[in-house]
Amino acid sequence: MARKNYKRIKQRTCATVNPSEYQINRNDERIRRLRKRVTKSTKFTIDVQFIHITDAKEGRISKARRIKQVAVLNNAFSEYGISFGYDENEVRVVNNAEWYTMDHGSIAERDAKTKLHSSPERHLNFYTAGLNGGLLGWATFPWELDGNRDMDGVVVMDESLPGGKAKPFDLGITAVHEVGHWLGLYHTFQDGCLLLGDHVDDTPSHSTPNYGKPDECEPNGACVEGEFAPVHNFMNYCDDEWLTEFTEAQIVRVRKNLMQYRPAFLVKKSKK
Ligand SMILES: [Zn+2]
Repeated sequence: MARKNYKRIKQRTCATVNPSEYQINRNDERIRRLRKRVTKSTKFTIDVQFIHITDAKEGRISKARRIKQVAVLNNAFSEYGISFGYDENEVRVVNNAEWYTMDHGSIAERDAKTKLHSSPERHLNFYTAGLNGGLLGWATFPWELDGNRDMDGVVVMDESLPGGKAKPFDLGITAVHEVGHWLGLYHTFQDGCLLLGDHVDDTPSHSTPNYGKPDECEPNGACVEGEFAPVHNFMNYCDDEWLTEFTEAQIVRVRKNLMQYRPAFLVKKSKK
């Protein structure tokens, strides 16, 4: 059931923090030193633990929308050997008006996650809520598992799941974007034209997010003359319909982050 009190969100807003250069470099170093091999045949299956926070009247998500959301995640990641599944019997629905309007970094977020999370090493804790301040969502980074494991997961605005009211953010792409962070990706516009941007070689650096449905033939703030901002990249800010791709180097980063921080999702090869 869609929300009655939904207030239209005009442009994508993600509250995932910009990690510091120190954190990014430390993670890059860990990934570089990764001893376990990630080959083309390495596959991961991620178990999604849906936790729907409601305020009694608003925030309930139907089974059909959960199925569609998981299909959208699979559509984005499965060609790279990363698949998602969930168990309908394990879905949690929790009624708490205070948590329903939680903000990023709030006490409500900490309380809710502390009480509701499932083992983050074995599940993607996928929270939905109404959120505050026009946010579509946020996520934690994989290295935060160490020391802050209860907060691990993604938080996504309920109406952004497929079939919700958050048009043009109603196709479930917000979850793909947040899961991208949760698997170690940064915004393509991170650090603008300074430093190493998003630390991914094949996404052109750009100065600011792109919004709406920008013309892909325009530079749109790309830092290098002749390059174009990646307006179809899931880690940019365009409308859902416009975000359709990851790059090869992003996927290499994601798969190595999975191996480094979330090995429980590794699909064990069967012995013959
Ligand atoms: Zn983001």
